[in-house]
Amino acid sequence: MEIDRILYPVESLGPGKRVVVWTIGCSKHCKNCSNKELWEKNNKKDIPSYKVLDLIKNICKSEQVDGITFTGGDPFEQKDELIKIIEGLDGFCEDILVYTGYTEKELYDLLSEEETEKVKTLVSVLIEGPYVDELNDNVSCLKGSSNQRIIIYNKNLCPIYNEYIKQGRKIQNFYVKNRAISVGIHNKED
Ligand code: SF4
Repeated sequence: MEIDRILYPVESLGPGKRVVVWTIGCSKHCKNCSNKELWEKNNKKDIPSYKVLDLIKNICKSEQVDGITFTGGDPFEQKDELIKIIEGLDGFCEDILVYTGYTEKELYDLLSEEETEKVKTLVSVLIEGPYVDELNDNVSCLKGSSNQRIIIYNKNLCPIYNEYIKQGRKIQNFYVKNRAISVGIHNKED
């Protein structure tokens, strides 16, 4: 899977301390996307899915991990690899959040029946839909624009997500190898 970075502990893209994976490749090209550098595919950053899975599992073994978030780019533009990885995480972490620029309907039109079933079972929370700059209300937690939907498939997680969403947007800054990375849902002017 083409991956740009994996960071821990991230608290601005879902409840608790999370492992966040940024995938490469997105053909949606939303206006004012905050991750334009991840639009173009880059096979130099292609890592076998089992290695990505091992990396995530190793962090989970050595740290307190409350959830795992996949963002990008659009993780579903590498759907085969994504599904392999989330299958590998089954029983390992109850809270798996995936962002996608597809709407839920577009996504399930794209996936086979079997893939759809896996996604609905293995993904705990799906945040769906393209980013629409004009609909960025600078308030909505976890989503960049109000057209996007937070779909909680794992109902056990509703209380924890409802509580997290009430707290509003959060931003965290990481400095990795001389690179500053601002993580979270940004306001329009940022
Ligand atoms: S779907 Fe997300 S990553 Fe893709 S262009 Fe839109 S905002 Fe950017």
